Amino acid sequence: MLKNRRMLARKDQTEIGEDRLAGRQPAAPHEVVLDGARLAALRDLGLLDTEAEQDFDRYTRLATELLGVPVSLVSLVDADRQFFKSQCGLAGELADVRQTPLSHSFCRHAVASGQPLIIADAREHPLVADNLAIRDLGVIAYAGMPLVLSDGHAVGAFCAIDGVPRDWSERELRILGDLAAGVIAHLELRRALAEQCLHDRLTGLANRALLSAQADQLLHAAAPEESETVGAICIGLDDFRLVNDAYGAAAADSVLEEVGARLRAAVRGRDLVGRLSGDVFAVVGGDMGDEAAVMRFAARLRDTVSRIAFEIDGQLVGVTARVGLAGARRGTSGTDLLSAADAAMCRAKSSSAAVRTTGEDTGDVAAAQLRLRAALHGAVTRGEMHVAYQPIVDLESGAHVGFEALARWTSPQLGVVSPIVFIPAAERTGDIVRIGEWVLRCACAQLAHWRRDGAELSMSVNVSPLQLEVPDLAKVVAATLADYGLPARALVLELTEGVLIGAGALQVRNLQSVRELGVRISLDDFGTGYSALGYLKRFPIDQVKIDRSFVETLQADCRDVAFVKVILGLAESLGLEVVAEGIENPRQRRLLEQLGCRLGQGHLFSPPRPPAEVVVASGSRE
Ligand code: C2E
Ligand code: MG
Ligand code: MG
Repeated sequence: MLKNRRMLARKDQTEIGEDRLAGRQPAAPHEVVLDGARLAALRDLGLLDTEAEQDFDRYTRLATELLGVPVSLVSLVDADRQFFKSQCGLAGELADVRQTPLSHSFCRHAVASGQPLIIADAREHPLVADNLAIRDLGVIAYAGMPLVLSDGHAVGAFCAIDGVPRDWSERELRILGDLAAGVIAHLELRRALAEQCLHDRLTGLANRALLSAQADQLLHAAAPEESETVGAICIGLDDFRLVNDAYGAAAADSVLEEVGARLRAAVRGRDLVGRLSGDVFAVVGGDMGDEAAVMRFAARLRDTVSRIAFEIDGQLVGVTARVGLAGARRGTSGTDLLSAADAAMCRAKSSSAAVRTTGEDTGDVAAAQLRLRAALHGAVTRGEMHVAYQPIVDLESGAHVGFEALARWTSPQLGVVSPIVFIPAAERTGDIVRIGEWVLRCACAQLAHWRRDGAELSMSVNVSPLQLEVPDLAKVVAATLADYGLPARALVLELTEGVLIGAGALQVRNLQSVRELGVRISLDDFGTGYSALGYLKRFPIDQVKIDRSFVETLQADCRDVAFVKVILGLAESLGLEVVAEGIENPRQRRLLEQLGCRLGQGHLFSPPRPPAEVVVASGSRE
């Protein structure tokens, strides 16, 4: 496969040295322990099959320079292969090699033993004398440090390689060890980040993304002939706002934590418990049994929450809950299953029933959805919508650098409807394309008006996946900009991670055409999906917006700080701008500023307002 003896050979190296560091060598040959937990830890990092990143490349580059070796690798050892998260020095025909089978891996031995593996001449080393990398890659000298995470799992190795025998010095091994420690620290951060994206920070339970991924997985694995094998149960606390008002946020948080712990103790080991939103919990599981069994289970969960009172400041406070259930067969999506259970729970809340199944209210839910969709159709033409603007602020000076346009709808029949409700409905009916174009037009008109006074403002407009499927999107955008005499750079289109991950060829092409106009692309709600950061490189992105759930719980010593740091570091290395969403108090603003975040948005500066109420600030701190 790879013949690069020459490529790996150092011209000045002639002698074969005895291995002076016998103490560092593993005593006996080890086989790679391919245990599930280690592999799960490796996969949880979300780094397999991802693009190269500067954060790791820095270490391999340093290793080659400081040790004077031709090649250095960060190798992640998977079940049947080693994947190079970073490589420095593989050149020519080897330049594109990102993985090899285990038959070519020295690193797997360092992983198996959890110890450094130091080899002066592989041809004479019992552990690797028959390793195919000697023949195919020309690996002769090898020094590898296992990458052992804090939970004890060795996920790979950081190594230096030479194409001729080499007597590794103490100093070289110390340097390699120090660099490996840096790589490990980075892996830990990435693990924390991956975990944060799938867990609720208050309770440590699964979040919506993880619950729906788990439901997807169970639904996918379900036998086709079995009906309703996967169930979701939503547990919503009654009037929880009152606990908040009466006892304060800290006490309310501790009740939520306790509810989570009780639910976790009440389910079967294989069920997944999560928090969907503030006071709504959910359980997802397979093989839930027949309807009667599920009803009993749901009732038990409700009792678990409400039977025993919670102690707050020495007082006993009772909390009651409503439960909604939904079951699904293979072919349904996890998101739909959770929404159905959520809707059933909402119905239980507005009726006297404590437990509801989707079966009982499908009619009502469907009818309400149909009423909403009917009312939505033509809402723009009837003048029921307007656009509100929220400033994006330079955190240091307080100056407005731009605005985000947010759609607002007041229906004569339904009253004020939140975009969280009507945007998904419009996406289902296709009305979003019309609404989206109208918002874009309003936003550009407004921006042109504000820029008339010379302010260098930009305008951010949210774009739905469906809009990216309109073949002439770039034309529409270009025409709108031209109509208002705006430079393309003044416009930012916001997309969510899900859109990018699920993007098809047409959507990617559209995105590229829009960007070629000079329009900037922003990644909205970053951190709430499956932040497999690698895809950031594949798309033409200019900006990342850190989701407000991270800003909400930001404290000097918490893990969200690590998350924000990773994002800022990554953004810097990819040349992206970062905006923090949902800043509500000066403490969050200060912390973000200290971390090096330059831009922010949130109620601290201003909620979204109709244009007549907006005062453009040119910058003074408070
Ligand atoms: P988004 O794009 O992430 O917009 C930010 C949301 O956070 C807005 O909610 C905004 O009002 C809210 N927000 C801003 N600062 C704070 C804060 O300090 N604290 C809190 N708690 N919230 C804050 P909104 O207006 O309800 O919009 C919700 C979502 O609906 C938007 O999230 C966006 O995804 C969607 N949306 C709104 N308008 C449009 C539109 O014209 N087109 C499309 N496709 N989606 C839209
Ligand atoms: Mg947005
Ligand atoms: Mg957002």
